[in-house]
Amino acid sequence: ASEPYDTVIIGPGGYVAAIKAAQKGLKTACIEKRGALGGTCLNVGCIPSKAMLHNSHLYHQTKTDLQRRGIEVSDVSLNISQMLKAKEDAVTSLTKGIEVLFKQNKVDYIKGTASFLSPTRLSVQLNEGGEAEVEAKNIIIATGSDVTPFPGGAIEIDEEQIVSSTGALSLPQVPEKMVVIGGGVIGLELGSVWSRLGAQVTVVEFLGAIGGAGLDEEMAKQFQRSLAKQGLKFLLNTKVLSAEKKDGKVYIKTESAKGGKEDTLEADVVLVAVGRRPYTEGLNLDKIGVELDTKGRVVIDDQFNTTIQGIKCIGDVTFGPMLAHKAEEEGIAAVEYIKSGHGHVNYLAIPSVVYTHPEVAWVGKTEQELKAAGVQYNIGKFPFAANSRAKTVLDTEGLVKLISEKETDRVLGVHIIGPNAGEMIAEGVLAVEYGASAEDIARTCHAHPTLSEAFKEAAMAAYDKAIHF
Ligand code: NAD
Repeated sequence: ASEPYDTVIIGPGGYVAAIKAAQKGLKTACIEKRGALGGTCLNVGCIPSKAMLHNSHLYHQTKTDLQRRGIEVSDVSLNISQMLKAKEDAVTSLTKGIEVLFKQNKVDYIKGTASFLSPTRLSVQLNEGGEAEVEAKNIIIATGSDVTPFPGGAIEIDEEQIVSSTGALSLPQVPEKMVVIGGGVIGLELGSVWSRLGAQVTVVEFLGAIGGAGLDEEMAKQFQRSLAKQGLKFLLNTKVLSAEKKDGKVYIKTESAKGGKEDTLEADVVLVAVGRRPYTEGLNLDKIGVELDTKGRVVIDDQFNTTIQGIKCIGDVTFGPMLAHKAEEEGIAAVEYIKSGHGHVNYLAIPSVVYTHPEVAWVGKTEQELKAAGVQYNIGKFPFAANSRAKTVLDTEGLVKLISEKETDRVLGVHIIGPNAGEMIAEGVLAVEYGASAEDIARTCHAHPTLSEAFKEAAMAAYDKAIHF
């Protein structure tokens, strides 16, 4: 048998961990069954959706927003297959890019499906056929998540008419009517895409607010108003019970969340976006004694150790938000624990972004969380309508809301709706990570005219007063 690896990473979320491990001189392999690196995020998630979001925004803007900017266009039409191809090209070039990085860093890329034989031995069903055995001193499980099926099997996903996010990224034509089940991040991003391309989109959400857990309530309301202006319809406090295909349509049964009132919606395409669940199928974890919790998540301690020594776990398949950047941080920290015994992830400073237009981004605590915890705080808000750059580019929807601790002025949370919020939140993350005060930010020079001045002025408003509002 060949020499054992120092570290083997199973699954997609682990490519960053694999590169870091190899950089640290560990003999490393990454086992991945998709046949393309980068996991859900790169292949059927964040990356293709951002391609579709960007290009559908350009299309929509060309149709609805150019005239007031003094640009006359005619005969604007959609070539959906070209738009899908542009998305595929982006994905392919990025997955190939990771393969190159693997080669450069000397990470062995094993294409196949791994299953534990013992805590240090894996059998791999190779994609090209046959089986291999891999021995490793340390194994990191990074198998990610997959779509939560609808409870009780009441809705079957066929990825054509009843789609998950995967199918919704590849619809061959624009549906006339689309119903989105779930007003979380996936529902809103992909609902936006198809709405901009011409579909009538109705989002059905069980809760009383959109945006999923962790979104500041005030921002959720404003976000919903923005999307409604763009033509998305919302049915809140409404639970979807089932969906049935009949005569080329889908009929969706709903019920008021408080019980009682039933209704039926008709759609050409239904997007099921009711969450994702940890993915551990076929790993044989029960055989070797790796414990899962009741939600199917791999149980880990604060150093990413599972209940079996030598096996660590990171990303969607364990606790915490299901975000690629969170998995990357964990991957690096887990490798550092293996190499040196020290690693660190600051879970208070993980940003969230919804890539609609305007974008929504946040980090740290929401106002409702601070209220519930009895923390005294100051709030500084600054609207983009008062920001010179936003006005110049005619993109003024939204605001920056900064929350700081009353006693210390320390930044506890930043919430942004607006153009480029996803880029701008990096400053908020840095503030939380470094324990900055609102005054620190307010006294930091920001270039003029930029959107980031709205950030500075929100900080000014939190500790003193803004200038332009
Ligand atoms: P989610 O958990 O964010 O939202 C699902 C929503 O569906 C919830 O609001 C829930 O109340 C609602 N729901 C559940 N059952 C319902 C029913 N029967 N009827 C009506 N509504 C119902 O899940 P998601 O949007 O599927 O996203 C999955 C994961 O992927 C999340 O963890 C998300 O963070 C991640 N993701 C992140 C991004 C991003 O960061 N930009 C993008 C896509 C996905």
